[in-house]
Amino acid sequence: MANKQTILVIEDEKTIGNYIETILLSNEYKVLRAMNGMTGLSLFTSHRPEVVLLDLGLPDIDGMEVLRRIREFSNLPVIVISARTQEREKVEALDGGADDYITKPFGAEELLARIRTALRHRFHAGQAQSQEPVYSKDELVIDFERRLVTLGGKPIHLTQIEYKLVSLLARNAGKVLTYDFILKDIWGPYADTDNQILRVNMANIRRKLEANPAEPHYIFTEIGVGYRMLE
Ligand code: CA
Repeated sequence: MANKQTILVIEDEKTIGNYIETILLSNEYKVLRAMNGMTGLSLFTSHRPEVVLLDLGLPDIDGMEVLRRIREFSNLPVIVISARTQEREKVEALDGGADDYITKPFGAEELLARIRTALRHRFHAGQAQSQEPVYSKDELVIDFERRLVTLGGKPIHLTQIEYKLVSLLARNAGKVLTYDFILKDIWGPYADTDNQILRVNMANIRRKLEANPAEPHYIFTEIGVGYRMLE
């Protein structure tokens, strides 16, 4: 099946741009390339791609500025291309409206998986998260209507907060949610909370859901950024 969806790649490093283009072309995507932010914005407006891959360090305007201008009029998926150590940058980009990020160096499989996730979320445009009645992956099943969580067919008892956390992540499966986003969603924008309360709850959830909490299978930690649930 041909995808034929258009991906706009805004990246000034030619080698990385070429690498991404090769992967995308051999997977039936159409590719648009921009070497700087202004060209990227102009290609975005004229071609309306399905997904944008955006490098943050650009020669003319900052990638965050490109993101801000795109978000003024469009909620199309933007995946930020980021350097390994820049957690703060990733968090800023996600909180600034990026859908996801990918860390250099990355492999073809990872890139394609991120793009598929972004495209899938695009079809829920206007509703940021999945409205599926059930999350089901391997042994884990979450029935949102009945608020029932089972693992290998056995019901798992979660506290209210734990359930809220798991269902928030499950409804956004495949997508990284920042600590800040999760805290605001679960405890409200004015709650006096910090990441510690989140870590404690996540440790409890993992004890209940994961065969080996130290090597989670369902909920992954994105160090310094947030959590992502298996899609
Ligand atoms: Ca760059």
